[in-house]
Formats: sequence, C-alpha cells, structure tokens
Amino acid sequence: MIAKRLRQSLDQSICIRDIFEEGKKLAAIYGKENIFNFTIGNPSVEPPAIVNASMKEILDTEEALSLHGYTANVGYPEVRACIADYLNRKYDCHYDENGIIMTSGAAAAIVVICHTLLDYGDEVVTFAPYFWEYKSYVESVYGKLVPALCNMETLQPDPGTFEAALSERTRFVLINTPNNPTGAVYTEESLRMVTDILRRKQEEYGHPIYLVSDEPYRKLAYDMEVPYLTHFYENTIVVYSYSKALSIPGERIGYIAMEPEVQDMEDLFAGMTASMRYLGYVNAPSLQQRMLLKCVDASVDTRIYKETRDILYQGLQEIGYTCIHPDGAFYLFMKALEEDDSRFCETAKKERILMAPGTAFYGPGWVRISYCVPADTARKSLPAFQRLYDRYQK
Ligand code: PLP
Repeated sequence: MIAKRLRQSLDQSICIRDIFEEGKKLAAIYGKENIFNFTIGNPSVEPPAIVNASMKEILDTEEALSLHGYTANVGYPEVRACIADYLNRKYDCHYDENGIIMTSGAAAAIVVICHTLLDYGDEVVTFAPYFWEYKSYVESVYGKLVPALCNMETLQPDPGTFEAALSERTRFVLINTPNNPTGAVYTEESLRMVTDILRRKQEEYGHPIYLVSDEPYRKLAYDMEVPYLTHFYENTIVVYSYSKALSIPGERIGYIAMEPEVQDMEDLFAGMTASMRYLGYVNAPSLQQRMLLKCVDASVDTRIYKETRDILYQGLQEIGYTCIHPDGAFYLFMKALEEDDSRFCETAKKERILMAPGTAFYGPGWVRISYCVPADTARKSLPAFQRLYDRYQK
C-alpha cells in the first residue's frame, strides 16, 4: 500500500508521459512519419561534439578509482570555481566556489531547496502556467505550492495575482524563464515588477522571501538575452541545468548558485549540503562534473529549435489558431478550440496530433506544443492542424 499523499497525487496527475507512450504506439501502427507527437520535452538537437570528446578524454586519462569515487556533497571545488568564473564573466556577477552546489539537474536542485527552506505548511509561490512537477517537489516536503496566474494575453507575470498569492508563510518564489510550458521569456519590466513587490513584502513580513530562478532553458532563447535575476534582487538563488543547454538530460547535471549577499547564505549552504545527503543524492555525478571543466560555455545549436518554432508559429497563426509568440525554450502555448483542453487533445489525436493539455500546467483552455521535433515533422504537421481546425468550424 503506498502513502495516501502519493496516491492522491497519482490520481490527480495528467500523465504526459502516458500520452507520449500512446504516440509511440500510434507510430508503430501508422508509421512514425504520420504521427505528430508534440508531448514531451526531450531535446531533439545533438549535444555539442565537445561533450562526448571530453568525457572520452577524461575516461582515458584520469585515474579510475578517484574519478569514480564519491565527491564532496557539493561537488568538486575546481568545477564549482570554474562555474563561478564563467557566471562572473558572462553575467557580471560575483559568485565564488562557496556559493555553488553541483546537483543532479534542476529537479534535484529544486527538491534540495524545498528541503532546506520549507517547514510543514510553508508556501512557495510560482507563476502559472508552470512546470507540473513543481507541485510534487514542494509537496514532497509537505509544503504548499500557490500559483499566481500570469496575464493570459501576454503570458507575463501579473502584479494583482502575484501580490494576492504572497503571504506570511511564503518562503520562496519559484520563477522559470524561458518558461515551460509557455515559451515566454519574462521581460525586464515584469521582473522589476515582481522584485519590487518582493522587496516590499520582505519588509512587511520581516523575513526573507527568496527568489528561486529555475533556468534550464536560459541558453534556449531566440534573438535575445534572458535577463539575469541577481541584478534585480539580492535574495536570488539560481538553479541551472545542462539538460537542455547541452542536450544531456539523462546525464543529470546542474547546480545551485548563490552570491554572498543572499541573506543567511552560509546557513543555506550548510542546509543544502546536508539536504543533498538526507535526500539520497549524495553528490552530483562525478564524470559529468568533470566534463563541465571543458564544456562550461558550450551550447547546442539553437538555430535548429528556432527554425522549427518559426514554422509552427507562423503556420498555426495562418490557419487561425491563437498562440503567443514563444521567445525561448522549445514550447509553444496555443489556445484550445474548445473550453475543455483535454477533450481538444483527444480530438487532435484523430488527426494524429499529440499535445499536452494546459490543465496539466494550471493553464486550462490551452495546450502545450513541445516542438523538439525535426523541422520537417513540424512542416508536415500543418495540414493535420488545418484539418483539426476545420473540424471546429463545422
Ligand atoms: N524545471 C523545468 C521548468 C523543466 O522544464 C525541467 C525539465 O523539463 C526541469 C526543471 C528539470 O530538469 P532537469 O533535467 O535539469 O532535472
């Protein structure tokens, strides 16, 4: 018998992986080229060549027992220093290795932060639509996730819903830009609004409210730089992952970064170090950490995602769908043609299009199109989207 809390969460979840698997079954019946599976965010662009080359070099040259041994819970000091230097050069920050903790991707980083900051019933505010796993991460330590719905015309944070979501129990705000599921990059104006409110609320409540910036898609922004959050708010904790930047989600590598100004930084660092152990992560994978010494500034070829985005965005607009221009990540948020987005996704399957219903991301009435597919698949899907649209005009 599994725990009641988990049972409830399983019963409520709309499992996008199930839809993805269904897509694979349909592909076996109708042929892969006839199924348009836009469900899952698994990178479709090759990792940069330097990733494999450096792993091979490390395996060939480093001493095996040491390479495969435990590292410090927070990771190799030279890797953390290398990341701090990179961030300081690139974003004009002042990190040092004592503010960097290597993690098994962004997922582990967020869970470690929840474990470190939340007591029973404490709250985490996030901007909705949001990455569906956030709720499970927060609830795994008996916290409460409070969504603040964005302005659904612009997909930018809304000051009214944001302020209403904050309370004495808010320990941190979880922000994700470029955003999964919407593809929105939050503007400087939005970030200024969010951090002005946060500063005011910190003062009012008399305790820090951290801003946790979850940034697995930072490198996947098209024709723009994503503003770096520490320049807006001192109490920012950055969560980064190489899953999407280097197309290596299976390798599980990322980090938490804190500048020395973060309030109670030493306590947080000690708490996160202990949480790495208590949660069973122990340390981030050793080989992947060492690989970063050579790949810290590498990136996948984002032009490939951009091309696919342009094909879909323009094509869908021309058909008559409502979508908001996605500036980053590999997601496009599109308005469903009926109120019930799950039913709309079911109807889309008749045209062999698979998408994730917006309800799964606290964005009812919309659907998420994951465009990490070849550009040609996107192009070929447009007649199917046209047929789906025509069904609703009858
Ligand atoms: N945060 C967001 C917004 C994501 O979309 C994902 C994965 O898709 C994650 C965190 C987890 O990423 P990682 O593979 O780094 O754990």
